[in-house]
Amino acid sequence: MAKQTDFAEKAKKASMERGVKCPKCGTVKVPTLYVQSVPSAHGSYRFNRQRVQVCKCNEKEIYG
Ligand SMILES: [Zn+2]
Repeated sequence: MAKQTDFAEKAKKASMERGVKCPKCGTVKVPTLYVQSVPSAHGSYRFNRQRVQVCKCNEKEIYG
């Protein structure tokens, strides 16, 4: 029994550490790979990839 409780506690902790709560909206931020196509010289595009933390404040910008 004791072991099961330990495991549950650890799992709970791990899931809590994964997400950082946004102080503005209180939503847990989700790490997302955001790919943006950026026009470069000679009329071609390059892809700008960045990891962003998505919460309610910026989800509309990220997901369109
Ligand atoms: Zn937010």
